[in-house]
Amino acid sequence: MSTLPFVNHCFVLVLSLVLSATTLFGQAPSARRIAAHVETLASPAMKGRGTGSRENEKAAAYIRKQFRKYKLRPHGVDGYYQPFTAKVRRVVVPDSLRQASNVIGFLDNHAPYTIVIGAHYDHLGDGRQGSSLAENPEGKIHRGADDNASGVAGLLELARYYATNAQVEPYNLLFIGFGAEELGLQGSRYFVSQPTVPLEKVDFMVCLDMIGRYDPARGVGIGGYGTSDAWPELFTNVKGSVKFFTDRPGNGGSDNASFYARQIPVLFFHTGGHADYHRPTDTADKIDAQAEEGIIRLGIELIDKAMQQPKMRFTPVN
Ligand SMILES: [Zn+2]
Repeated sequence: MSTLPFVNHCFVLVLSLVLSATTLFGQAPSARRIAAHVETLASPAMKGRGTGSRENEKAAAYIRKQFRKYKLRPHGVDGYYQPFTAKVRRVVVPDSLRQASNVIGFLDNHAPYTIVIGAHYDHLGDGRQGSSLAENPEGKIHRGADDNASGVAGLLELARYYATNAQVEPYNLLFIGFGAEELGLQGSRYFVSQPTVPLEKVDFMVCLDMIGRYDPARGVGIGGYGTSDAWPELFTNVKGSVKFFTDRPGNGGSDNASFYARQIPVLFFHTGGHADYHRPTDTADKIDAQAEEGIIRLGIELIDKAMQQPKMRFTPVN
């Protein structure tokens, strides 16, 4: 009898620990979810998500569905979508003008400034839009698991984390799935020319492009370190489980370049090139989702630190 209150007490304590662990860690990025997103987006049914294809639209709808689930506010022009016309330039095709969309969700924390997080969801389709490195690429599905289902998976996990963590961060967050990157950064260029948040209110932009092939010897590369004098301080004492290195320029590689061109500080996460790059063999089974989870946690650590600081100043990198 006398032990019963103690048992009850223990039970309540354990229960409350479990509950707080759920609320603390339930929204943390997970390798399982990353792998599931990559498998869906890089599945044969998505046919390489070429710009203008039905499957490219399916990929956009998949992102929209997740944004809706996380209760992000639609922040395109047509709901979550920001439609634009993309143009195939590298090869001559009869249908060179193609319908494309950015997919945009907003986490409104009623803050004065906004952090943009983006990843492109298009890839090379069946090899008829140029820039494949395969021999005779026409008709071969380019699955684009690393490029860039991996980045979209990271984008979705960051969106879920910030949207469901029950905190009101001191910055707003704008999540963008970019279209038509493979045709020359066309989605991000369109966004900065027709922004759905004022660009002067953007603190910095984080771009995730090819983050699924972590090599422990190399580490994940983070470009854009030189684009603000605030970055060096934020990179000191970063804990993280993955190895990383920084690179000063922010004007190349992916959609970050469109923001850099507008004098916005950027970070560009990238696990490096490989033999399957822009070839049909860039498949989901080669993605290291566990390491990518570590990369997204590192991203959260850096973003959280940046949110404790005032709006960053841009510095050009020569
Ligand atoms: Zn890419």
